[in-house]
Amino acid sequence: MDGKALVQVVDLKKYFPVKTGVFSRTKGYVKAVDGVSFSIGEGEVVGLVGESGCGKTTLGRTILRLIEPTSGDILFRGRSIVGLKGRELRGVRRNMQIIFQDPYSSLNPRMTLRQIVGEGLRIHGLASGDELDKIVKDLLDRVGIPPTYIDKYPHELSGGQRQRVAIARAIALNPAFIVCDEPVSALDVSIQSQILNLLLELRDEFNLSYLFISHDLAVVEYMSDRVMVMYLGQIVESAPAEELYRDPKHPYTIALMSAIPSPEPGGRRERIILPGEPPSPINPPEGCRFHPRCPEAKSICSSTPPPEVEVSPGHMVKCHLYA
Ligand code: SF4
Repeated sequence: MDGKALVQVVDLKKYFPVKTGVFSRTKGYVKAVDGVSFSIGEGEVVGLVGESGCGKTTLGRTILRLIEPTSGDILFRGRSIVGLKGRELRGVRRNMQIIFQDPYSSLNPRMTLRQIVGEGLRIHGLASGDELDKIVKDLLDRVGIPPTYIDKYPHELSGGQRQRVAIARAIALNPAFIVCDEPVSALDVSIQSQILNLLLELRDEFNLSYLFISHDLAVVEYMSDRVMVMYLGQIVESAPAEELYRDPKHPYTIALMSAIPSPEPGGRRERIILPGEPPSPINPPEGCRFHPRCPEAKSICSSTPPPEVEVSPGHMVKCHLYA
């Protein structure tokens, strides 16, 4: 593992039991995250893309222990956080924050911006009274909200302003790592780039690291240093962003990329339409999980899981075509 990694995820699994009948017997498991390993460096933005239901949101929340992992390890600055409880866990949580997709439901409608943004500082005993007010006003100002809005409620703000408040709340405790879970997909397109640019500015200013989750490949390309592609609970390809978009290797990534309109006039890629919906994560296909939809599938693909291969420095692919 990378010695300079801020966050390391090692063979992480999150299975949800599927219950049935009056006795609530477990009849199977939704394997939402199934053996994921990666690391994120200080100041690095790692994008995570995949269709809805592929497990990316569960992965983001499990890393923060908002959902408890089934197995595997999560290290923050080299120290495992999986077994931490109480004060120790709260201490780590200061450093690891999340920005949710929907700024309408992620902010408590009964709290003012003063309470929302100042809550973490107050709970951790870091500030109170006039000092807390000053910090909250400075944070609002930094994210582009007039400090005079400090006594407003979320319903008095637009969607973009609410997401700015959510960002102020996330950076209030001076964290090192933020999971950004589809942070602009609920916003008007005209507002999206403002929020993305604010996140990039804050990354530079505070040397933040992001796990940037989105189904929107263009947004992920804009934000990320490195990109991971997730399919049915597993990472099937990861590479530096520029390389992944220029030279995708995995047939699933190639299909996803083919849906992005080319910026050059007349330069549209030939769109690959994948057959069917992603299979259920309750009983994922044997062998390569993508084989029922893969235009390149060979006989080995339906029986043997593909190994992970490094096709060029830092470019990993799980596919028999490269083994
Ligand atoms: Fe397709 Fe086989 Fe590669 Fe899976 S391992 S992506 S089925 S070629």
